[in-house]
Amino acid sequence: MRMRAEEVITTHGNTDFDAFASMLAARRLYPNAVIALAGSLNRNVRDFYRLHADELGAIVEASRLDLGAIRRLIAVDTTHAGRLGELERVALDPSVETVVFDHHGGEAPGWVAPERAVLSEDAALTTTLVGVLAERELEPTPLEATAFALGIHEDTGSLTYSGVSTRDAEALAWCLRHGANQDLITAYLQPPLIDEERTLLGLLLDSIEPLPVRGHELLLATAVYEPIDLSVSHLATKLVDLTDAKALAVLVEMAPRVFCVVRSRIPELNAAALAGALGGGGHAQAASASVKSTLAQARRQLLGALESAVRDLSHAPVKGIMSARVATTGEDAPLAELQTALGAASAGRIAVLRDEKVVGVVTRSDVLRALGQPAEARPGAGESLAGELAALRGLQPVWDAIAAVAEPYDGVYLVGGTVRDILLGEANFDVDVAVEGDAISLANALADALGGRVRAHHKFGTAVVLYGGGGRVDVVTARTEFYESPAALPTVEHATIREDLFRRDFTINAMAVSLKGDDFGRLVDPFGGRRDLEAGRIRVLHNLSFIDDPTRIFRAIRYENRLGFRMDEHTERLARGCVEMGLVGDLSSERLRNELIALLEEGPGDHSIVRLREIGVDKAIHSHLAADEEAVELLARLHALREELAIDVPEWRLGLAALARKLPPDEVYGWLERLRVRRSDAERIAAAVTVAPKLVDRLRAGTIDNAELVALADPYAPDAPLFALALEESEELRRYFRELRGVSLEVTGADLAQLGLGESPRVGEILGELRRRKLNGELDGRDSELEAARELIAESA
Ligand code: ATP
Ligand code: MG
Repeated sequence: MRMRAEEVITTHGNTDFDAFASMLAARRLYPNAVIALAGSLNRNVRDFYRLHADELGAIVEASRLDLGAIRRLIAVDTTHAGRLGELERVALDPSVETVVFDHHGGEAPGWVAPERAVLSEDAALTTTLVGVLAERELEPTPLEATAFALGIHEDTGSLTYSGVSTRDAEALAWCLRHGANQDLITAYLQPPLIDEERTLLGLLLDSIEPLPVRGHELLLATAVYEPIDLSVSHLATKLVDLTDAKALAVLVEMAPRVFCVVRSRIPELNAAALAGALGGGGHAQAASASVKSTLAQARRQLLGALESAVRDLSHAPVKGIMSARVATTGEDAPLAELQTALGAASAGRIAVLRDEKVVGVVTRSDVLRALGQPAEARPGAGESLAGELAALRGLQPVWDAIAAVAEPYDGVYLVGGTVRDILLGEANFDVDVAVEGDAISLANALADALGGRVRAHHKFGTAVVLYGGGGRVDVVTARTEFYESPAALPTVEHATIREDLFRRDFTINAMAVSLKGDDFGRLVDPFGGRRDLEAGRIRVLHNLSFIDDPTRIFRAIRYENRLGFRMDEHTERLARGCVEMGLVGDLSSERLRNELIALLEEGPGDHSIVRLREIGVDKAIHSHLAADEEAVELLARLHALREELAIDVPEWRLGLAALARKLPPDEVYGWLERLRVRRSDAERIAAAVTVAPKLVDRLRAGTIDNAELVALADPYAPDAPLFALALEESEELRRYFRELRGVSLEVTGADLAQLGLGESPRVGEILGELRRRKLNGELDGRDSELEAARELIAESA
């Protein structure tokens, strides 16, 4: 029997630690996926895996899988379907949803939709995935952290290769903080040479020939050897160490194959292009190939490709860096029109066309100058919001207090939504402050200066300053994505405001204004947030943004709805991509649920509902959720009725019920339980879905007396009867809300006690019967209630 798996994670053969670690990390994102391989693991990876297979979980041979059962294939560390062995045909099957994570540059291959391809620039792909795990606060086991660290070490030459960035270093630090074991890293990173390796290394060293490349040297080392299981790439590393070669190509024939490894630290020499001549690949600094051939033939091919693998960087084609979507205009366009168009153009300039040929370029400054306004300052070049801040009279004491205590800190800033709202001229907004330094100590000083008090959250390194009559300032330490909280930062370290802004959701929320001394009012806007604010554009800061944190999809829709903005095309495509990659999640995470609720709470809901559907999030959360036209109409009626009948019910409860209305009753409760909304809320939402249609049926079936109506409607009021009324107009239900719901007895349990009825279940029963009679108009005032109560007590005696 072959094994059935709907989701499979895989990578290329001769799997190195970076690919291996990336698969383990990807499994944290796709917890139901099976890791399967068609090729073999590199020796050190295999040794590591064998020893820890129990703890790391199974890796299945692709040949054991029922390939027809695969619905989603997640390929890491390669965009070449041909390197996936048997899984190639799964990758090429259009009915399979393919997802790719790779870091070798280039474009998405034909077999994966561009929006489902994550193509990063990190030196190690593990760095990219660790960044996502860190941002999602997914905790690895120490052993996983060890594997991740090995992946980063291997692909960055322990952080020494050119192209390595602080992201790799921070990702590695994150692994160590999560228990990566240094002894294991050392043991597996440099596996001691076995005898055969030593022999082969000797042969290769003896064979070295230097080849001139643009004033540098490429060392070529070749050998023929009996087929044996060893890592040529490992030997290449040793050779580079021994020869200090700037560039090295190794060819080893082990019949019937030739293994090729290329390393290059010469910027003009592209290792991948060289290995590509033998059908392999990799990146500019390191690449490999394995081909059925002889040494002589492989050597010829490699040397033949040398010329074309050398890039003359001084002639690098501009198309590599140009932007393909350029806004254009005609020569006769009026200035006002240009101004609007410039607002929407992401590059801030527009090409002017005559007869479809570019004859010039206009920029914002050109237009402003022509309109007689001073050209705006370049972003970051001293734009000041000092005037705007001074105009906020109520906050002057806060600005003064911060100025007085900010000296010891590298930077103190207003950040995020606060800056956005000030620029929008909003009257009410939260005051969020980010500090380059210790937030809690700044908060304490600020509270002293303001005569307020501090509520500190030491675990998160955040604090709230409460002052005066209801004044409030939130203070956080600037942080980077690799730290769950600034409290986890080494005490001497803190992120800069730029790093802090980089991990925020959208450009319009990624601005800061300095509050420090002579810097007061300086706008920090590294991503063009102000321009997007003027253009009404919601734009992410980088391509991984939604994958890092899918709650941002809800946030984007919420801002669209609230501000009348729109995501730009690229951002929207990334949002859909995240959904299509299956990376949104089922709302069991508290943050996701809170953002959905925040979204539904901010009416009017029609735009939000439409967008949930357009981006596909409704189905991603639960396959039976329906953010359709009917939901929009239903919600509109619910809102109108809520207003008209002055019913007190939170918007989000109506929103959730409208979305969930097609869930089968037995699924509703389970789903709401996973959402972990409060029990009393869950019961009302579920009743709106399940009880309301029954109520409608009952009302259709014929006359109903008041008492029965109340008995049906009351237990889940107001949600279920309100929902029923929105489903179908009903005079009875309107009466329920207008009159019956408020009907209460004038007599109480105490009155019954006076009439001689002691504490017992009878008290409740008699009160219930009295209310029934009152609802049906049989009682009229306190005296008649007492009279009826006396009779009922006598009857039951
Ligand atoms: P609101 O007016 O609804 O409070 P806000 O922009 O202030 O909007 P908050 O949820 O209060 O939003 O968050 C404050 C700031 O923190 C945001 O402006 C944004 O910079 C950042 N932020 C919040 N949530 C995220 C997130 N999920 N990802 C990245 N940055 C976020
Ligand atoms: Mg806020």
